[in-house]
Amino acid sequence: MKKLELHWKILIGMVFGLLFGFGMTQISWGTGFVVDWIKPLGDIFIKLLKLIAIPLILASLIKGISDLKDISKFRNIGLRTIVIYIVTTIFAITIGLLLVNTLQPGDGISEETITKITETYANDSEVQSKIAEAGRQKSSGPLQFLLDMVPDNAFKALGNNKLMLQVIFFAIFMGISMLLIGEKKARPLKKFFDSINEVVLKMVDLIMLTAPYAVFALLASVVVSSNDPDLLIALLKYAGVVVLGLIIIIIFYTLIVATYTKKNPFWFLKQISPAQLLAFSTSSSAATLPVTMERVEKHLGVDKEVSSFVLPVGATINMDGTSLYQGVAAVFISQALGFDLTFGAQLTIVLTALLASIGSAAVPGAGMVMLVIVLESIGFPPDKLAIGLALIFAVDRPLDMCRTVVNVTGDATVAMVVAKSVGKLGKPHVREWDDHIDEVSNTNE
Ligand code: ASP
Repeated sequence: MKKLELHWKILIGMVFGLLFGFGMTQISWGTGFVVDWIKPLGDIFIKLLKLIAIPLILASLIKGISDLKDISKFRNIGLRTIVIYIVTTIFAITIGLLLVNTLQPGDGISEETITKITETYANDSEVQSKIAEAGRQKSSGPLQFLLDMVPDNAFKALGNNKLMLQVIFFAIFMGISMLLIGEKKARPLKKFFDSINEVVLKMVDLIMLTAPYAVFALLASVVVSSNDPDLLIALLKYAGVVVLGLIIIIIFYTLIVATYTKKNPFWFLKQISPAQLLAFSTSSSAATLPVTMERVEKHLGVDKEVSSFVLPVGATINMDGTSLYQGVAAVFISQALGFDLTFGAQLTIVLTALLASIGSAAVPGAGMVMLVIVLESIGFPPDKLAIGLALIFAVDRPLDMCRTVVNVTGDATVAMVVAKSVGKLGKPHVREWDDHIDEVSNTNE
């Protein structure tokens, strides 16, 4: 019998998770049961993915760079990646602004709804902590991001998942230095990292065996902790505009893949789908990164020289879904609260949402923190910030899930484009989790 493909297994897990979650909300002890007994299983899965993210980035980037035959190739890959990331992000924000200005979702919100939402969420500790976090991020100088990128202690950087850019910096620095000492001297280290890289990719295969059960747990816990359904309905038009924008961006990616790399866009989406489904279930591009890397290298055929740089950098700085959302949310809040936006203010949104998406951490809810900075940049009254955030808070988690899918798909698209442009898009070489199992089993015979 033909084996069920991974993305179908994950999808089935997600559907069962949703149904189970809804079922449990109907039982008095259901929510507590899911939180105590089901959610930890999903959390363990996310922890396992995060566990291997840093070793994977380090090993694959060092290997990728030290495999280069000349350094100028790396400059080429780097420049193209950054330029394409910026262009696609500006495109995404522009689409968001066009949609929100044409469809005006904020005008349909009644005073009553605003009051109800404000009472429910404006003093919510999560809303307040996002405003406080934004305040901390904003108080830094203009070159702070450069400063933050350079580690002063390699082991400290390697020991903190939030310092991914520092790890990337260290790996590039080391990879380039390995190139410069010459092939012979660098060989042992290269072999070492090569081997780590293979082992970590095998870990991804093993972790992915549990993915269908993990997404079941993750979605069940999202459902039991979701907000008042009435509020979700009041915000349906706003959520619809964000989702419509995200769909347009996905179509845009598939067009790029079809026209530039000449690959079938449905094939592209199918190969990347396990990463997209995980992005949806975890709301975190960083947690999804190991799977994105595995899919892009093994299933789409992008060479490690490209993917090992484009994907980790993309997970931290390229967030088209998040930036589209920031544009839509900023204008929606202004419309709903009667704050007039000039054309200049909308241009400011393009610029700040671009910077904000670069600065957003690749974790759940990070986009909302940066939204505060976007709102402040257009002169939004500070005393109304909490009300503004409260307005969109109820639907933030489902939208976060959707925008993370776009963020991850965008990284994979750019990896394909850059690989094609430097002649590094080859044939996929798919492996199974147990492709060497014969060698290690039956050893007693
Ligand atoms: N959760 C998103 C990500 O990890 C970031 C955000 O939009 O909040 O890509």
